[in-house]
Amino acid sequence: MLVILLFGPPGCGKGTQGKLIVEWLPARIPTISTGDMLRGEIAAGTPLGLQTKSVIAAGNLVSDELVNQILRARISRPDCQNGFMLDGYPRTVEQAEYLDTVLAELGMPTPVVLHLDVPADVLVGRMVSRRNCPKCGRMYNVLTMKPKVDGICDDDGTALATRADDREDIIRDRLKTYADVTRPVLSHYPGDRYFQIPGERSTQYVFEEITEILERFLAEEAAAPKATAPESANAAAEAAQPVR
Ligand SMILES: [Zn+2]
Repeated sequence: MLVILLFGPPGCGKGTQGKLIVEWLPARIPTISTGDMLRGEIAAGTPLGLQTKSVIAAGNLVSDELVNQILRARISRPDCQNGFMLDGYPRTVEQAEYLDTVLAELGMPTPVVLHLDVPADVLVGRMVSRRNCPKCGRMYNVLTMKPKVDGICDDDGTALATRADDREDIIRDRLKTYADVTRPVLSHYPGDRYFQIPGERSTQYVFEEITEILERFLAEEAAAPKATAPESANAAAEAAQPVR
């Protein structure tokens, strides 16, 4: 069983690496983002889902407390029996501590933390080179995904535009906020399970570095005697339940 936490600033290629990781792992594990988790709970119509729906409908932010409860429910589901990968959680040290508690209760291992680190200048360069078509919404990049004719959409000939979000000052602000929020969460994790991966190189190169790290943990897992902790933890939890 492998629990992976994926961290990285906007534009670092985290989504791509996340997909490659789950395809590569020998056992199937789900990728869980906070947004998917909340939407899933709402769609399932559980009590937590209904609560979330009413909070969002009222225009309020979903509290840490509620997100935590939904996380617990999500990672207790059968598709997490081989582990799971979290994207966007934990966002705070309190959530990281909560996750520790839940993992211990469920007999799950300490997470392997993969932090894709890309220098701000590189991210800014990538994002300010993005263009989009105001008519059809197709995305381009003047460095990596150019249109056939400069500044013109391949599909409909419309002049390409830059989104307001892709202005340099706005991107730098967003990156700074990300770094400020994430730093304390990352330092919560022990050094032997935390990996900072320079993410500015090619997708393949970054992915190879990630698989080298994960291979080590998979080998450890294979060498360890079969854990019986999940069953015994469940049994203990059931024994502790009052008789109804
Ligand atoms: Zn277009």
